[in-house]
Amino acid sequence: MDRWKREINIVMAWLLPALLLSYFVGHLTHMLLLITLGLLIKQTMAVNDLEKWLSRGAFRDYRDRKGIWGDIYYHLWKIKKTDKKRKKKLSRMIDQFRNSTDALPDAAVVLGEYAEIEWINKAAREVLGLKKSDKGQRIPNLIRAPKFIEYLKSQDYRQKICISSPVNDSLILQISIVPYGAGLRLLVAQDVTQIKNMERMRTDFVANVSHELRTPLTVLKGYLETLQDMDDLPASYARSFESMSAQTVRMQNLIDDLLLLARLETKPKQTECINMHDLLGQICKESDLLEKDERRIELNITADANLIGDAQELQSAFTNLLVNALKYSPSTSPVKVGWHQKQDGSAYLEVEDFGEGIPAAEIPRITERFYRADAKRNHKVIGTGLGLAIVKHVLVRHDAKLEIDSQLGKGSRFRCVFTAKRIC
Ligand code: ADP
Repeated sequence: MDRWKREINIVMAWLLPALLLSYFVGHLTHMLLLITLGLLIKQTMAVNDLEKWLSRGAFRDYRDRKGIWGDIYYHLWKIKKTDKKRKKKLSRMIDQFRNSTDALPDAAVVLGEYAEIEWINKAAREVLGLKKSDKGQRIPNLIRAPKFIEYLKSQDYRQKICISSPVNDSLILQISIVPYGAGLRLLVAQDVTQIKNMERMRTDFVANVSHELRTPLTVLKGYLETLQDMDDLPASYARSFESMSAQTVRMQNLIDDLLLLARLETKPKQTECINMHDLLGQICKESDLLEKDERRIELNITADANLIGDAQELQSAFTNLLVNALKYSPSTSPVKVGWHQKQDGSAYLEVEDFGEGIPAAEIPRITERFYRADAKRNHKVIGTGLGLAIVKHVLVRHDAKLEIDSQLGKGSRFRCVFTAKRIC
């Protein structure tokens, strides 16, 4: 039978005796009122029972309940049972997640909207020195390295940063932050001590070898010059000495570039406000430039902006771009050098030539060390393949980027774009 019909039957079963009684003794309204009151009290007590049953966690047996109330108890008990199962499953999943994140070699920290710690894994406790009780604390109050605080504040997490571990100075941690969800951030700290040590060993090795090669090369160069100055030198010897001399110059350039690169990797940055008018004027009148090359340069400065940076580093980067433009274009074509500012406050140095250009496929590789594009075509042009690697390194140290536009047979344009923060 339908539940509602059963309930109607129960109400009827209460009403029937009242109707019968009123038939014999009268007072129908009073009888009906009495019955309604009785029904109301009965339902109120049932609701009260339900409330008690629920407040005690719905543990007690409910099977003595009859009618619609029995059904209500049954459904509630069923919901509770599936809920319990779901909770168990969820807690098992959380345990598994916790175990797997604890097994991770990288430290992971979940940060809330205000950089407060919401969750940490085991590695974060070990290498970042965070404790479980630090939950809710803002991370800049616990990891106080200025570089880290600046990175966190910047909201620009495209680059990663390296800091020393707050618990062990000899550990180098590479920090990256990934924003996700509504205002949440995942901070990952990876131990890169070994990689950094190897990088330092490589830089030291290159710097030491280059330094050690300098002295014997100077001696060789000196003797070659003396021999070349001899009056009665046979023509075949003269040619050989000339070729040897050219090769020693090449080796010296290579050593100079390698030493400069090694210095860029290790030297602390020195910054000052550099007058770009003076710097560019000086570069375009560099003593190393041939007079006929100097005449090809068209300098166009439209910006008053000056640059915050290391003058020596920027000078070598800009000189490399200028020398390349002169080297890789015909000796009769002009080379344009410009310094301009954009509306957003950023500024750029531009070097444009009308030479042979660079094949599109090679553009992404020309800033690699020792990479020389189109080696066959360029074999007559003296170069080390390190010039653009130096440019790229210097620009990274100045938060700038290099943009290269080139068309084969038409020429190339190199742009060093500096952010507004670097302008003074
Ligand atoms: P290099 O000492 O060979 O000039 P760079 O690192 O300065 O070394 O340049 C790498 C390569 O990029 C060069 O070998 C050359 O092929 C190419 N390149 C650089 N600048 C230009 C340019 N202005 N025009 C054409 N090719 C260029």
